[in-house]
Parts: sequence; C-alpha cells; structure tokens
Amino acid sequence: MSNSSSPQHRESFLPFSPPNITDKEIEEVIDTLQSSWITTGPKTREFERVFADYIGTSEALALNSCTAGLHIALAALGIGPGDEVITTPMTFCSSVNVIEHVGAKPVLVDIDPETLTIDPALVEQAITPRTCVILPVHYAGHPAELDPLIDLAARHSLYLIEDAAHALPAAYRGRRIGSIGHFTAFSFYATKNLTTAEGGMLTGSHPAFDMARVLSLHGMSRDAWNRYSAEGSWYYEVIAPGFKYNMTDIQAALGVAQLSRLGKMQARRLEIVEKYHAEFSKIDALQVPVVQPHVEHAWHLYVLRLNLDALLINRAQFIEELTARNIGSSVHFIPVHLHPYYRDKYGWKPDNFPVTYHEYQRVVSLPLNSVMTDEDVTDVIEAVKDIVITHRR
Ligand SMILES: *Cc1c(COP(=O)(O)O)cnc(C)c1O
Repeated sequence: MSNSSSPQHRESFLPFSPPNITDKEIEEVIDTLQSSWITTGPKTREFERVFADYIGTSEALALNSCTAGLHIALAALGIGPGDEVITTPMTFCSSVNVIEHVGAKPVLVDIDPETLTIDPALVEQAITPRTCVILPVHYAGHPAELDPLIDLAARHSLYLIEDAAHALPAAYRGRRIGSIGHFTAFSFYATKNLTTAEGGMLTGSHPAFDMARVLSLHGMSRDAWNRYSAEGSWYYEVIAPGFKYNMTDIQAALGVAQLSRLGKMQARRLEIVEKYHAEFSKIDALQVPVVQPHVEHAWHLYVLRLNLDALLINRAQFIEELTARNIGSSVHFIPVHLHPYYRDKYGWKPDNFPVTYHEYQRVVSLPLNSVMTDEDVTDVIEAVKDIVITHRR
C-alpha cells in the first residue's frame, strides 16, 4: 500500500476489462501466421463449426464484428425504408445504427426495471402495420424475456433478431442464446467474454442465412477460400452489393483457443459475482443485479445500481471516487435517445423512456473479468464499501 492517507488505495490501476490471453491463444495465432492462409479460410470454418456446436445451432457465420452481424441480418431479411424495428434505448449505439444503415426506422420502447431488458408489454403496444423486426438486447448477459417476444413475432409475422453481444454463454429456459431467434449476433470485441480482438458471429436458422453469408463478403456467390484453394474454382458471381465483413483466420485462431477456455473463464466470472453479491447485497445504498430463475446469466457485466437517496454523491462522483482508489469502471449505457443524432432526428426527450433514464443515472459497471485475482476483487469490494461509508447521507 503506497498511499498511507487512504488504506483502500491500490498501488496500480485495476483496468475495467483486460483480455484473458494465454499461451494457447498465442500458439494458435502463430500456427495460423506460419500456415499458407491468413484471411478467411480453414481456421474461420473451424471456428464457425465449433461455435455452432457449442451453441447447439446449425449455422454460424464468423464476421469482423457484432455490428456487422446485426446489419447483414437486417439486410438479408430485406428490411429497409418504410419498415420499423422495435428495440431498446438501453444499449450500445450500434444496435440502433444498423437500423439507420438499412434505411428503416428505429422504434424505441422502455425497459423492465428489474433486468433492464426490453419490456415485452411495451413492445406489443408499439407494433404497427410497418413493424418488421423485434431486436432485443441481452443486457449485461441477462437474456431478454423471450417467450412473449417470440409469441408477438409469431402473431404479427415479425422477425426476431437478438443482440447477444453480452450473452455468450447465456440460456433462456434451458436453450442457449443463439439457438432461439431468427438471427442472433455475438461480439468478440476486446472487452467481451470471448475475444478475437475485433470480431463477431451470426447464428440463425432462417432461410435468409445464405443471403447473410453472401452479403458478408461483397455479395459474391463464392468466398475466396473456395476460389483459391485446390478444390476451388476461379469463377464467382456478384448477386448483391454486399459488404466487407469477413473474419480473418488470425482472429479465428484466437477464437478457437478462447472457446476451448470459455467454461473456465466463465467459472471465474461467476466466483467474482458471488463475492460481489455476498458483500454488496448487505449494503442498503446499493442494489445488486437481478437474475431471473429461468435464465442462465452470461455475466458479461456486473452492473451495480446506486440508491441515490441514501448517498450524498451522484453516479459521476461515485466513479471519480472509484478512479481515485485506482479502480476502473464504466457506464452501460448512455441511452440511445440521449445521443444528439437520435435525440434531434426523432425529437426524443430524456423522459420519453423514463425507466431507462432513471436507471441510467444510477448504474455503474464494476470490473468483472476472468483475469482478476482474489486480491483485485477484495480491492473493488473495499473501495466500494469505503465510498459508501464516506458518502452516506
Ligand atoms: C459491444 C456491443 C456491440 C457491438 O459489438 P462489435 O463487435 O464491437 O460490433 C453491440 N451491442 C452491444 C450491446 C454491445 O455491448
């Protein structure tokens, strides 16, 4: 302890979400670099196959991001101008940006105050003759309430496209996320539970999956591996103006190694969550995350909620206090409707989505990752306790 005036002060900064990379990942990447193929090829196909098996689904398409997956899911289903897509404001901007990319209209509805996922009753109220898609986000790794959404999709002939950026591995009523909706997009961004530095995976069983595959690589009827390998052919046809969204074999090498270690990494996340929960649930100025009994939580994020009435400081000051104690943290998310582009285009006011706005002001995401030591976890707990004691109303 370097700072005698503050016993809770760590010597070094605890990063919010560093990657968990071992010799296994390094060896896999070197192996690919020393092979004769480094972009989309045999390693990517292998990653897709093991990922699909892991989820329990037939189709998996490796991409350079989750955003790309959401975009081509919408595009492959022919969603465009005049169509409406219902989603949540409590998400990362890319869930909604992709709706703008295809020229459709995002229709936001508020969230459930317990799980912070989209409220199915409000989805039902928002359905119009122009609605084509429901796009739930499995916030923090807690699955959205899917049964009523599946029911609404069936009754109104809508597509269900899930943003599962946080939801590997999560399950809803015993079924893995990624095996339920028409399309599901996962993220392998550097901070996510499984990382390929940048990357994503699209799963699904809809017939339009083939079109998503074509759109992911320039709209070509055949990918490069199929053209340049021994059994391939030089001939291809462009059947749509597609995108450049393919994953490289270097990324897939990371993914294969990470997936083989996912169970172990998740077990560590769960241990940390249990330690946090045991301490924080005793403190009335704090509200710990809720887990519904019928889901398996992926624990991408540990989102603590501050009972602001019990504190003399606000969330921003709480984060400053964490930073002063060398603890990294984050906020998930600045709601979509507060960002200038969306606020100005659709005339949204903060209180248009009152649950989202209220919860936004009191959420703080604590470090939760599989490289944290027991000492790191204790440092976070002690720092939070110290802040609450110091600033209790
Ligand atoms: C990280 C994230 C994304 C985007 O993932 P990329 O792989 O970076 O495109 C989308 N939605 C949510 C909720 C996310 O947290």
